[in-house]
Amino acid sequence: MGLLYSKMKIFHFTDKIDSLAPDVDKILPPVQIRIKPTNHCGHNCYYCAYRAENLQLGKDMNQADSIPKDKMLELIDDIIDMDIKGVTFSGGGDPFCYPYLLDAVKKLSNSPVKFASLTNGANLTGELAEVFAAKATWLRISIDGWDDESYSEYRGVRHGEFTKVMNNIRMFKKHSGRCFLGAVIVVDKKNASHVYESIGRLKDAGVDSVKVSPCIVSNIGVENNLYHWEIFKSVKEQTIRACNDFVDEAFEIFDSYHELDNKFDKDYSWCPYLQIVPVIGADLNVYTCHDKAYNLEDGLIGSVKDMRFKELWFSDKWSFFRVNPSVHCNHHCVSNAANRLILEYINVDKGHLEFV
Ligand code: SF4
Repeated sequence: MGLLYSKMKIFHFTDKIDSLAPDVDKILPPVQIRIKPTNHCGHNCYYCAYRAENLQLGKDMNQADSIPKDKMLELIDDIIDMDIKGVTFSGGGDPFCYPYLLDAVKKLSNSPVKFASLTNGANLTGELAEVFAAKATWLRISIDGWDDESYSEYRGVRHGEFTKVMNNIRMFKKHSGRCFLGAVIVVDKKNASHVYESIGRLKDAGVDSVKVSPCIVSNIGVENNLYHWEIFKSVKEQTIRACNDFVDEAFEIFDSYHELDNKFDKDYSWCPYLQIVPVIGADLNVYTCHDKAYNLEDGLIGSVKDMRFKELWFSDKWSFFRVNPSVHCNHHCVSNAANRLILEYINVDKGHLEFV
């Protein structure tokens, strides 16, 4: 298995990288799009970043929003037309609650565009599960509780939901297909001592990969680090032990938990990644990225309500440079490290390239 979570993937798209800077007179399509088809979710996780009052992410989200079927199919036509390489369905809500997800992924299945989704796994059943197993590139299920009781506490769901989701994972692996099945453990103080056992249980259930991620509790890096400080060492020790005991050719663990420091402070004035992986929300607004979705003040690129996505994308190059990360983005950002690499690549003095 190659590296799945590498920041270097974007460097395989050299034309795109060379088109990003403000002084280049060329706009290319995004490489990938995240679509948030619905803001509805059957679970109610206490830490959900889209619903937390103190986080900028999701601050203008309306839980009733959902992309109309015709618009979704139009978006997919544009994505295929623009030669965008991948689509990830994510929240807002749970994409598997979206009534037209099956129509959307069937259409994508008949195109060269790869697709993937995040989900809580509760609705990973029936034809939708079969199509994902057969045609999706990957699927990732979020987990926090380690048994029925703790899972229900985290998510405000009925007792037995954890067992149901673990069964859905087992059943999913019985479908034939190429879909890579991942899980993400969202670590907070409550489940921090259960990380090792949770990874083992997920491997037993059949997942191919487990990502260990921090629960985000504040927009401010120092406050997040302070929250995680007392569990940091224990999570590290368990993750290393799990790597030693469980990782093999067919199973990987990605430690995103211990990269927290890398995701908050920005010292650059424009963002390459918002041209690489923009987000289309269930409100039909196009946002800069996953970390500024449903933030109308700082994250908005435009709207596809009365316009096709492909028209909007090529209509105003300067809409990509309104966000100044050093001013507007000193909160959690998954693309921070990749942004820094790209900016270093772009800013190399071309007169000195030969002196490698
Ligand atoms: S710097 Fe990060 S948070 Fe800001 S727009 Fe870019 S990807 Fe989003």
